[in-house]
Amino acid sequence: MQKIPSAVLGCTGLVGQQFVRMLLDHPNFEITALTASAGSEGKKYSEVSDQTQDISFPQNIRDIRLFNTSVDAVAKTGAKVVFSALPAHIAEDIEKPLAARGIFVFSNARTNRMEPKVPILIPEVNPEHLMIVAKSVSEKKGYIVTNSNCSTTGLVIALKPLVDFGIRSVIVSTYQAISGAGRKELSAFEITGNIIPYIKDEEEKVERETAKILGKLINGCFKPANIVVNASCCRVPVLDGHLETVTVELEREVDIEILSESIRSFRGIPQYLTLPTAPEIPIIVREEKNRPQPVLDVYAGSPERARGMAISVGRIRKKSRRINFVLLVHNTIRGAAGTCILNAEFALSQGLLGNLGQNVNSGRRIS
Ligand code: NAP
Repeated sequence: MQKIPSAVLGCTGLVGQQFVRMLLDHPNFEITALTASAGSEGKKYSEVSDQTQDISFPQNIRDIRLFNTSVDAVAKTGAKVVFSALPAHIAEDIEKPLAARGIFVFSNARTNRMEPKVPILIPEVNPEHLMIVAKSVSEKKGYIVTNSNCSTTGLVIALKPLVDFGIRSVIVSTYQAISGAGRKELSAFEITGNIIPYIKDEEEKVERETAKILGKLINGCFKPANIVVNASCCRVPVLDGHLETVTVELEREVDIEILSESIRSFRGIPQYLTLPTAPEIPIIVREEKNRPQPVLDVYAGSPERARGMAISVGRIRKKSRRINFVLLVHNTIRGAAGTCILNAEFALSQGLLGNLGQNVNSGRRIS
């Protein structure tokens, strides 16, 4: 079985390290190159990965020497798929040129999310949006597929089972973990015993990305959903896991049992295809009054490869046409590296990685 040579860009960051961990022993992708900034060039991965993260890397990964991220250097490694955990301003000079060289780029950076021909893909929510890249594949070109901002990912997965009831508006308040800011962004002095009621550009990202993801792909163009989204975002002293309180206004009143059951029984295409990183149950509904909690629930999801890939939803309540709930999403796994890998698995299963992975067992195609 031939695995696809893959590079992780920004491999020393909090998302980059999750990529490396989740790609170890992956059935379809194999890490053949790791990049970071010029400051990390030439160092072994073991010297620069973060000892405070609860991740242990095998010796063959620990021994890989990093190089500075550049288009030429990445292309020279022969990587066919790139997983990008680069800061947005660096991704700007790297991702499009890599795609122009025929490489399939799966990115966490916000840089290209709102580009007209780039999907923000969450395969449980908008799998049909991936078809925008089919033209590039038929022309033997590369492309960029992004996943959304971490808090948006949790939100849209929870909203998906409610879409058929007609969503009029959404009000969301987020309580976002420190790791969402990256490895070096926040000092302990700023966040210890504190809450910061502002995260730069976050509210705008949640609002516009939700509309794009829940929108339609019509004649090769994304038409955003006509849903009013109103977000307020805070940073809280939690290590991993973004908690969100959500109020959804529906077009009509629906029985609370019906709403709860649609959330509980929701399954998406990745579950039907049994993709390697897909959680068996994408939304775990907690019945306890005081759940979900980051400390107890952030690693929701099974099998083992999908730990942290399920979101948790609790405290489902209703007042006439309004439904309230709390959700929790692991920001660097489901909100970043995990969904990015799931996107690549989904693209592979649909024959959208060119002629790569022909010998790989990549699941069934959707029609
Ligand atoms: P991070 O911890 O700050 O890591 C940044 C990575 O980029 C490191 O590997 C760093 O390498 C590298 N880098 C920095 N400057 C560079 C340069 N000039 N050239 C090449 N590489 C450079 O950030 P993160 O939290 O992992 O986030 C990575 C990306 O994912 C960002 O775009 C972020 O917005 C997005 N994202 C993050 C989350 C989250 O929860 N953290 C969720 C969703 C999306 P060095 O170690 O050598 O500096």
